[in-house]
Amino acid sequence: METYHPTPAHGIFAEVILPLAVPKPYTYAVPEELVAAVRPGLRVEVEFGGAKRYAGLVSRLHHDAPQHKYKTILSVIDEEPILNERTLQFWQWLADYYCCSLGEVMEAALPANLKLASERRLVLSPLYDGNFTGLTDKEYLITEALSIQETITIDDVRKILEQKSIYHIVKSLLDKKVIYLYEEMEEKYAPKKVACVRLAEPYRSDSKQLAGAFDLVAKAQRQTEALMAFIQLSRETKHKDGGILRSELYKKATVDSTVLNSMAKKGIFELYEREVSRIGGYEDEVTEADNLSSQQARALGEIRSHFAEGKNTVLLHGVTGSGKTRVYLELMQEALARGEQVLYLLPEVALTTQIISRLQKTLGDAVVVYHHRITNNERVEVWQKVGGRWTVDGGQEPNHQSPITNHQVIVGARSGLFLPFEKLGLVIVDEEHDTSYKQNDPAPRYNGRDAAIYLAHLHGAKVLLGTATPSLESYQNAKSGKYGLVEMNERFGGIEMPEIVVVDARQELKERKMQSHFTSVLLESLKEALAKGEQAILFQNRRGYSPTLRCNTCGWHSECINCDVSLTYHKWRNNLQCHYCGYQQELNKTCPACGSHELNLQGFGTEKIEDELKIYLPDASIGRMDYDAVRTKDAHARIINDFEERRIEVLVGTQMVTKGLDFENVSVVGVISADQLLQFPDFRSGERGFQLIVQVAGRAGRRGKRGKVIVQAMNPAHPVIREVIDNDFQAFYEREIMERKAFEYPPFTRLINITLKHKKSDVLNRGAKIFAQVLRAKLGNRMLGPTVPPVGRVREYYLLDILIKMERNPAIWKATKDLIWEATRVMQQEEGFSTVRVNVDVDPG
Ligand code: ADP
Ligand code: ZN
Ligand code: ZN
Repeated sequence: METYHPTPAHGIFAEVILPLAVPKPYTYAVPEELVAAVRPGLRVEVEFGGAKRYAGLVSRLHHDAPQHKYKTILSVIDEEPILNERTLQFWQWLADYYCCSLGEVMEAALPANLKLASERRLVLSPLYDGNFTGLTDKEYLITEALSIQETITIDDVRKILEQKSIYHIVKSLLDKKVIYLYEEMEEKYAPKKVACVRLAEPYRSDSKQLAGAFDLVAKAQRQTEALMAFIQLSRETKHKDGGILRSELYKKATVDSTVLNSMAKKGIFELYEREVSRIGGYEDEVTEADNLSSQQARALGEIRSHFAEGKNTVLLHGVTGSGKTRVYLELMQEALARGEQVLYLLPEVALTTQIISRLQKTLGDAVVVYHHRITNNERVEVWQKVGGRWTVDGGQEPNHQSPITNHQVIVGARSGLFLPFEKLGLVIVDEEHDTSYKQNDPAPRYNGRDAAIYLAHLHGAKVLLGTATPSLESYQNAKSGKYGLVEMNERFGGIEMPEIVVVDARQELKERKMQSHFTSVLLESLKEALAKGEQAILFQNRRGYSPTLRCNTCGWHSECINCDVSLTYHKWRNNLQCHYCGYQQELNKTCPACGSHELNLQGFGTEKIEDELKIYLPDASIGRMDYDAVRTKDAHARIINDFEERRIEVLVGTQMVTKGLDFENVSVVGVISADQLLQFPDFRSGERGFQLIVQVAGRAGRRGKRGKVIVQAMNPAHPVIREVIDNDFQAFYEREIMERKAFEYPPFTRLINITLKHKKSDVLNRGAKIFAQVLRAKLGNRMLGPTVPPVGRVREYYLLDILIKMERNPAIWKATKDLIWEATRVMQQEEGFSTVRVNVDVDPG
């Protein structure tokens, strides 16, 4: 092919990261005419494996001609690097530590709009004003094609322009916001709206008329209260449209949507939806933060001294409701004042809405949001802001004379780690114990908390880990003095910790006091709370109606056709679903094995709890929050809103309800089955169970009143349940860490789990044997397996697990990872086994 060249005269080569799972970057020659343009951090267009073209990223330039044949860079896509040296170092660390390729890290790290794979489809932006004068001839040709065809692929662009190298043209059109990637238009283009309220005219423009409005509500006390609260709040926020968030008003005054609706009818209020930016751009007036409580002031002082004394990471262990966010805020402001960037990580996007508005009140538009619920274009916008390159209006090439503005607090889920920070000074990892920080699939299978600590290290930044239920790893690091440890044992405002009541469900069953899945104690507490106008949360960690359909006659149970798991019955769709692959089928009427009609649904999930609760609390309005309920757009926000505005009285949900939500009117929290939480076949089940119960308990009694938590358990004597009742993290930690030590589990050892996959079980078995042999020769009994995991087949792939458990020794750690690459190579080179897939999971959990 013409792309093979002899070593160019100047002898410059580039290492290019390809968006593929190839183990290493590939070496390409830099052609004479591009020598001046190619730099690390730029995207370039290259061929790989035949004539397929990719947008790759230059990681390094050098003079070492490769031994093998090589190709030449075809074109340069960017004028300015899209990331900096440190970001590349971080990628490299992720690839090394988590045993994956740089290409896989790049795939995870880059926003979609920066990836430009050739099969991606383009569409014309409906927002573009049709003024094409700013376009080059080639750009114009593409827009013309798009106005005729609606969508074309990046490959089509190549055909239209009759040239091979086109990525820089596509990029330019994306930058100018003339075109969009198709997926974006499909899913996410709708603007984000928030519910607001303002005065109707004439009151809005003429405050002298307000007395008249007060007259109108004089007889209605709650309406008067609402009006007064509104006036006070709108003075504080001073939004240019004259309105405030409805949720703010609900918090300030004891009013709900019915009160506002009747005031709207009287012509006093106007209810409307305000469009807001998903990524920040706060428009209200910023206000001073609340004063610190003495506990917060002390904690803050301790954190500062730990940092000053050279501790780079501090663990803030503060009970639920202690007001950790207020402490973070103070540290954020200090970092901003030093001109540094702050990364504030949350385990789940779902949590961010409440937190973001709290932060924005004080930090204003320094707050920048980054997670998967913003659009592709917004993601690139954030990427550029954080990297110090602002696009000016019309999306022209960034003007690099403009000052780098780094006073930013980036609020994000774990993918926020990948942003090209210029001057990171502080990283806050909120709810550091949360399992959502771990990415399970695809590679890199990283832990966001651990990666955050490394990222901070690269930048010389400080890390604050915050949680009410520290992970065993972090707490041990704090105890050993590696991290600073700061505790807040009391809730803000003198609110008591909730009372935790454990109910022996076995006993109630015996005495026939149970009704369906509810103990009499739970039902009584719910009724009491509802009678007082208070709300409740019920936690059941399994979605769907029933997890198993079983035949009473022969024992058959319905299984997924693609996976070795039983299908869950979902009542709302009246079908059976697989929670691993999404497969669905109709509910069997008779047993396919024996023809019997006696089929039984066994076990229970959130749908069933919701359904049956309606029987026992016929007058209550019951809502549900789980993966199924929040699938549609904005459903999550709607449910939270309904709960906040008390249209939902009892909220039933999975893990989603345990996390960080702050509702002031919740007085009862019920854990339907504590046993289920503590029974996972995993060395972390005790830790997870403890965290979940304590976290969900933390939702009870957040303002003005002590809350009550009812924990239903078949085995109330379980040590974890005792420790939860006693609110005794210390006891839990001491016992758990002894067990870890005795059984040689982390943090005393390190684990790597390797999953081998293939569609044919015999190929998999034989391949795994070869793979395991290579490992065993060096690792001996540090290696366990191959064994069939609890779910032995997923999405038609058979699975085998190999677990490596080793001492905490960096040399062995490094050698083991090299060995894994080696075993993969040896197995895949063997005839017939090249298609066995290898997933490596470092620090699984
Ligand atoms: P945590 O995250 O530790 O569980 P939060 O940060 O959610 O606790 O705080 C609990 C509640 O106390 C919130 O409603 C918050 O607004 C309030 N709060 C915390 N600190 C202060 C303060 N210094 N002044 C006023 N309110 C505060
Ligand atoms: Zn049967
Ligand atoms: Zn399945």
